[in-house]
Amino acid sequence: MNFSYWERQFITDRADLIIIGGGITGLSAAYHTRLLHPEWKIVVLEKFPISTAASTRNAGFACFGSAGELVDDLASGMSMNEVLTLAEKRYKGLLLLRKTLGESNLDYFPCGGTELFDFSQKNEFKTVCHYLEELNNSLMLITGEDFTYKTTDVPGCLTGYENAISNSLEGKLNPGKMIQAWRKLCQENNIEIYCGAEAKIQEGSKNVLFGNHLIHSNQIAVCTNGLTNSMIPKLKVMPARNLVLLTDKLPTIDLPSTYHHDKGYIYFRKIDDRILIGGGRNKFMNTESTSKFKVNEQLKGYLLEYLKNHFQVEKESVSQEWTGIMGVGNSKKVLIKRLDETTVTGVRLGGMGIAIGTLVGKEVSELLR
Ligand SMILES: Cc1cc2nc3c(=O)[nH]c(=O)nc-3n(C[C@H](O)[C@H](O)[C@H](O)COP(=O)(O)OP(=O)(O)OC[C@H]3O[C@@H](n4cnc5c(N)ncnc54)[C@H](O)[C@@H]3O)c2cc1C
Repeated sequence: MNFSYWERQFITDRADLIIIGGGITGLSAAYHTRLLHPEWKIVVLEKFPISTAASTRNAGFACFGSAGELVDDLASGMSMNEVLTLAEKRYKGLLLLRKTLGESNLDYFPCGGTELFDFSQKNEFKTVCHYLEELNNSLMLITGEDFTYKTTDVPGCLTGYENAISNSLEGKLNPGKMIQAWRKLCQENNIEIYCGAEAKIQEGSKNVLFGNHLIHSNQIAVCTNGLTNSMIPKLKVMPARNLVLLTDKLPTIDLPSTYHHDKGYIYFRKIDDRILIGGGRNKFMNTESTSKFKVNEQLKGYLLEYLKNHFQVEKESVSQEWTGIMGVGNSKKVLIKRLDETTVTGVRLGGMGIAIGTLVGKEVSELLR
């Protein structure tokens, strides 16, 4: 789109910092940069009307890793130290998010998390139990809690699961309210946010193109996570689409905590008496490595079947669906780094961006100069 003469006067043409991406990471980077540089002109460019890629389309789990996920990370070659460092970042990221925005502005609720194991996962459950003491002892040094993970009962309203492990320190929040609160905080701190503003950059250049308008910026922070590939392909941040389904109100189904199954690939919880269920991407890796927001009907069928088998809920009860795009890669380490004189990145947050996004944004702000 071409901006008019007047619109071009309205939009700045010079900034100290442009942040590309108005999700949790970009807005946290903007706010934390403001704390370090009170005089800087800081501009956030967000492609969609709302922060649509993942920050407002996720499941709202305030989690830092089920025991099964951590054990799976160990099995995939990460050292215990790497696994615990990641869990610590997520835990501390959640604390920072809650402290910065305030729990009531997030609708944060410390409901705890539960990991479920079905009847075919007896060995997996045994292996995870084998690590529980070591994980609890190590996490105690981070969280101060003696028993983060405990074996527990499977909720009575669910069928098909044999075992469960709870995590007492997890919770849930409202991602839409979270982004509203971030935007409010940024605006109160004199940060300009433009929505519907798809930014284009060229490697090494200090210019950011937004429509036909060029903004010259001393520094650029790229916080585009799952949509990074088209902007900076060499980072190899791969898009990973995730599908979420929401049922009508089903008040008789009682799900007091948040739930994970299959190493976190399936997740569900209650919102306003409805069941939110998402995931299943591991069964459809080929089709879901995309940044297109379309719904894959086969994956949807898989989640509907899951709802039927475990909750006895029929497909007619599903009234809403949406997809979101995460950014993944060959490692779970977030790419917080300086690319050149001008550009810094905070991308590849995987499926835990609610937990780490605030901290990633803060670390991005510390790299800027
Ligand atoms: C369905 C789903 C469920 C999830 N559930 C959870 C969960 O329960 N708990 C959890 O911790 N994490 C969850 N995640 C992951 C979490 O949502 C993400 O890790 C997190 O939102 C990443 O935040 P971000 O700000 O880095 O990226 P994003 O939220 O993706 O924000 C990046 C922003 O950059 C914008 N952008 C991209 N390109 C451009 C451009 N060229 N110009 C301008 N703007 C651009 C995008 O529009 C987007 O708004 C889930 C993700 C999905 C998709």
